[in-house]
Amino acid sequence: MPTYEYRCTNCEHELEEFQKITDEPLLKCPNCKKDYLKRGIGGGGSTLQFKGSGFYITDYTKQKEGCKEGS
Ligand SMILES: [Zn+2]
Repeated sequence: MPTYEYRCTNCEHELEEFQKITDEPLLKCPNCKKDYLKRGIGGGGSTLQFKGSGFYITDYTKQKEGCKEGS
C-alpha cells in the first residue's frame, strides 16, 4: 500500500496517509477543516507535485512583482 503525501494549499499543513490506489483522495484538511488538500505521491515520482507547486510559486511571485512596479 503506497503512502500518499498530502499538502493543504490553504494553510500549508502536510500529512501522510496510507491508502490504496483505488481509494478516494482525501480533501478535507485536518488542520483548517477545509477541502484544500492536494495529493502528491510518496517515495519516488513526485515530479507532478513539484511541477504543481512550482507553477504556483512562480505565479505568486509574478503577482508580487507586478504590485511593486505598480506602486
Ligand atoms: Zn489546511
